[in-house]
Amino acid sequence: MLDKLTGNVFYMPAEERTDRPVLGVVCGKNRSFIIDSGNSPAHARQFIKKISTCRVPPPRFLGLTHWHWDHTFGMSAWDIPVIAQEETRIGLEKIKDYDWDDEALNKRVEQGLEIEFCAEMIKKEFAWDRSQIRIELPEMIFPDRVTVDLGGRTCRLESVGGDHDPGSTVIFIPEDKVLFLGDCLAPDLYAPEWYYSVERFLPLLEKLKCFGAEIFLPGHGNPLEARVFNRELEEWEEIARAVEKMGEDKEGVVAVAKEKLCRELSSEEEEMVEFFMNGLARREN
Ligand SMILES: [Zn+2]
Repeated sequence: MLDKLTGNVFYMPAEERTDRPVLGVVCGKNRSFIIDSGNSPAHARQFIKKISTCRVPPPRFLGLTHWHWDHTFGMSAWDIPVIAQEETRIGLEKIKDYDWDDEALNKRVEQGLEIEFCAEMIKKEFAWDRSQIRIELPEMIFPDRVTVDLGGRTCRLESVGGDHDPGSTVIFIPEDKVLFLGDCLAPDLYAPEWYYSVERFLPLLEKLKCFGAEIFLPGHGNPLEARVFNRELEEWEEIARAVEKMGEDKEGVVAVAKEKLCRELSSEEEEMVEFFMNGLARREN
């Protein structure tokens, strides 16, 4: 069975063990739309099997939220056109001819081209045979936004940027008011020290608010109602504003944020402040 968001939008939850992200399916009258390909052909096939046991119209398109391995390495298992933002294609083109054996992966980690966490997860997900990793390039490319009509239901793919990846794309289903977020709210992980920047974080929050969604689904989390998600966005905005005001004075940032939120910061929020500090330190260099 698939997990249900609305009568026409379903998903398969993320799995932490090998960093498998959420996969989604949006059903129109005669065709459906797949959100993200899975982190391996095995992950994709697991989803395809689930879909085949439900009353879901045949998948006709696949949309990518960004190029990172966990969202794209399942592409070769899907026999349908893939739609992606320009930067996603560029990201995939860069890694297309990489080798994925231990030696090559370890070397790229040393060179700072690969994240240690991702290398470990790739080794775990493809424990037996990494020669099956085949990176394909998307067939349809859009610069900012594109709408796919599924018959009685549409998917709006929109590039929202942010620190995690410049090509981060969210997928909105206006008829159901569901927003698939991908990883757009995560920090930039492809840096020696993970970071957020106020310049990219605040505009991203503004864009996410504008959809008027009622259900939000992060790429590695559980669905959130608007009431909960919007409050989280407001709290994150307060933290970013505190960074904007106090700059590299970390204790000052924490003090301002605590005052605005009228409470102590959670460990995740303290980590967020740390990531903003890393972002400021990068700017200095
Ligand atoms: Zn990612």
